[in-house]
Order: sequence, then structure tokens, then C-alpha cells
Amino acid sequence: MPRFYLTTAIDYSNGDPHLGHAIEKIGADVIARYRRACGDDVHFLIGMDEHGQKVQQEAEKNGSSPQAWVDRIAESFLEVWDRLGLSNDDFIRTSEPRHHRGLTTLMKRIAANGDFRRAKYEGYYCAGCEAFKKEEELEDGGCPLHPGREVEWTEEDNWFFRLSAYRDALLARLRDDPGWVRPRTRRNEITRLLEAGLDDISASRSRIRWGVPFPGDEDHTVYVWLDALSNYITAIGYPDGEAFAKSWPADLHIIGKDITRFHCVYWPAMLMAAGVEPARCVWGHGFVKIGGAKLSKSAGTELGLIELIGRHGPDALRYFLMREVPWDGDRDFPSAEAFVEQFDRRYTTDLANDLGNLLNRVVSMVSRYRKGGVPPPRGGELAEKASLALSEYHNAMDGYLLHRGLGAAFDVVRAANGFVDETKPWALAKAERAGASPDVLDGVLAQLMAALGAIASMLAPFTPRKAAELWHALGGAGPPPPFAHLDLESVHAVGLLESVRPGAVLFPRP
Ligand SMILES: [Zn+2]
Repeated sequence: MPRFYLTTAIDYSNGDPHLGHAIEKIGADVIARYRRACGDDVHFLIGMDEHGQKVQQEAEKNGSSPQAWVDRIAESFLEVWDRLGLSNDDFIRTSEPRHHRGLTTLMKRIAANGDFRRAKYEGYYCAGCEAFKKEEELEDGGCPLHPGREVEWTEEDNWFFRLSAYRDALLARLRDDPGWVRPRTRRNEITRLLEAGLDDISASRSRIRWGVPFPGDEDHTVYVWLDALSNYITAIGYPDGEAFAKSWPADLHIIGKDITRFHCVYWPAMLMAAGVEPARCVWGHGFVKIGGAKLSKSAGTELGLIELIGRHGPDALRYFLMREVPWDGDRDFPSAEAFVEQFDRRYTTDLANDLGNLLNRVVSMVSRYRKGGVPPPRGGELAEKASLALSEYHNAMDGYLLHRGLGAAFDVVRAANGFVDETKPWALAKAERAGASPDVLDGVLAQLMAALGAIASMLAPFTPRKAAELWHALGGAGPPPPFAHLDLESVHAVGLLESVRPGAVLFPRP
């Protein structure tokens, strides 16, 4: 069984989860579920980034110890991930001993390779980014990503990582492996960044106590980004754990496009320095924007994640985000109200009307005209359309274009509704009662049932609970079958269902 190790960025423990965190985790969950359905042995990791200056400051501000603070934040993230139905196999927290141990080994190996040197750092530090900023990166004297937050002038005697030594190796890897950094816009950005040259980076902080001690110099802690990045290997038992031997290099790091520099430059360079192979692919997804601005803690209060989950249920939110936000780009809503309006519109139009009506029509016709028994599989016009959409679905999903995969599933919904209008099964039933052969109506109902079965399987990675309800209403047991390759035969296999279960309302009208 091919293994597939999938990670997301670990979330920074400076506040509660918001929509921006949720999109990334939902997208990664869709990929994890899809890969499992394809027969892969998936290991899906998410977690928390719990060290650093900002966490230390937030804890102090709230009169809490850093550990008690991050414990509370981790709880609130876990609660939301549970409600959203994430299927992660592990949850790493960088304050855990397993992380501490692995990170210490990694730093020692980089040191043994001669890649740390002592030097004085003078410059600005943005605690919002937990990153050093060059003068030319600032706008109006502040961090462009954190307007309103002051950058701190910092003079520290630090350990530096010889990042510049890895520039050529990174460029060569980008050139030789076009699938390494994706989508292509992200790859081009990283190429330009490397071509412009690389400076060495601080690998330690001398004044931040909340972190992992720098090996060999315990007055310092490991710089939080190097600390955080290493979670991808410490979680699976680096350096000598069985899972590390089996699962590394990771098949896919899912991250926001704003942290590609850390994942496509710092992280692979650190691994190379320690003699470890970098991940096979880094995917930088885009963002939901409101009025042109990235979602932040403040915009997060306008679009509260808990409220959005409660509005139409967790699967509806998963559907909406994956349908509206292209997985390879941004989606800008004019305002928070416009976001909610569009959410309501999609819920009513796509889910309650298009999909909900289709299910009700088909199940009640099978009940009425065939006493609930599903006619044997048949080919035909709808089966062909479904088959085409299935191959589009696979192409999109294999290329991580999740919004297109979901679009393909809804192409089948649309085609099936059109097929009902066109074939008018009620008229066929009437003709049958007047003596016509049952053959034509059998063929229509069989194709509709097969299409709905295919829809259930296609939707399963996106809306797992609703897809299971859909499958159940069609007469299936358990979750929809995980098709290794959805094709016409697999769709027809849905015809093995014996009896529909009428009366299910998947998406009640608000
Ligand atoms: Zn910043």
C-alpha cells in the first residue's frame, strides 16, 4: 500500500482558531480523505506552534504561564477541529518532549556539519511574523503584514545558520524537480528569491526563554521558526523512530502562500545540513480575503468560526470554503456580510435545492414506481456524463485542484437534474401503467441511482458526514465505497444497492 505523509502548517498559539486556520485544515483533510479513498496508507499531521516571543508576551499579558496558556489554546483548536470532522492521525505540540528531543538532535547534526556560527544580529524583529526584517522590507517603518504592530530594534549576539551555503542546492532542486514547489506561481517566487541571493539567518534568540535550549549554548533558545518547522519530522520520531524511517520524506506540506520562504528555503536547507531529504512537495494555498485584506484575528471576530459552523452545520461550511476558494489562489469577498450572503446562497441553491431535491426526487420515484427496489445497472446518456465528470474529478484531485474536483461532482448533480426533467419518469410510469415496457423507466432510474452513488463517493472527502447520509438514503450501508478509480463500472456497482430509504433531509431549508 503506497504511503502518503501529509502535513499542514502548525498553528501559532497566540489566539483562538479563525476561518483562515480552518480553510487550510479542511483542504488538507479533503486531500487526506481522498488519498485514503484511493487506497493510500495516509498519515495526516496537524498541530500547534507553541514557542516564541509572541506566545511568551500573550501569556504574560493574560497573567498566565506560557505552558498553561498554550494548553488552553490547544484545547480550543482541538475542539474546533473535532467539530469540523478533521481526520488527522496525529496532533503535534512543540512544547511536547518528543518534539524537544527530535529538535535537539536536528540542531546538533546541523552544528556537526559546521553550519552554525556566532555573530551579532542588528535589525528589526516583527513579533507578529516572529521574523527578522530588513530595512527595505518595512513599510512606513512597520511590518507590511502587521500594520499597527511595532517592529522592535533588536541587537543580539546570536547563533547564525549558514543558509547562504545552500542557495545553489536549492536552486538546483527547483530546476530539477518542477513538482517540488507548487502551484507554479509559488515556485516562481521562490526561484526569484533564491536568484536574488540568500543571507544567513539567526538560529537562536538570547532573550527569549520560552523555547527549546540551543544545544551547546543554553543561554539561547532555538529561533522559533526553526523550532516549528522541525515538527514535521519530530512528530514521526526523528531521528530513529520507525514512523520516520517509513514515512519521511513527507509527500506533501500544505502551507499558506505567505510562509513559502520558510518551507521552501529555510526548512529544506536545514534538512540538507542535517543529511535528511527534503519533503517531496510543498503546496502554498491562497487566502480568503475580505475587502482585499487577509483574514486576521480582527476580521476573524466578524466571521466567527463557531458561528459559521453553527449556521448550516460543519459539512456545509466545508463545502462552501472548498467550492468558493480556489485551492491554488485567493478569493476576495467585498465584505464580511457578502461572505455570509454567498454562504447562505450556496447552501440554499447547491445543497438544499440542487442536491437535496435530486435525492428526494430519485428516492421517492424508486419507492413509488419500483417499491424501493433499485433496477440493475444500465448505461446511457447520464451514465456517460457521470463517467466523464469522474475522470475530471480524479484529474483535479490528483493535482490538488480541490475546487475543480468539487465542481466536477456538482456537474453530475446538474446533469442528473437535467436528465430527470428531460426523461420525465412520471410520464414513463404512466405509459407503463397503460401497457408500455418497464425497460425504459428501469434504465432511467438505474442511471439516476448510479449517478447519486457516484456523487456520494465524490463528495465523501469534502462533506464526509453528509455523503454518508446520502449513501444511506440510497440504500447503502456505512460510508460511501472508497473507489480506487471511479469509473463507469464502479458507478454501476452502485446498482448493487437493494432498497432505497426515503425521507432523508440532508440539507434542511433555513
Ligand atoms: Zn510581521
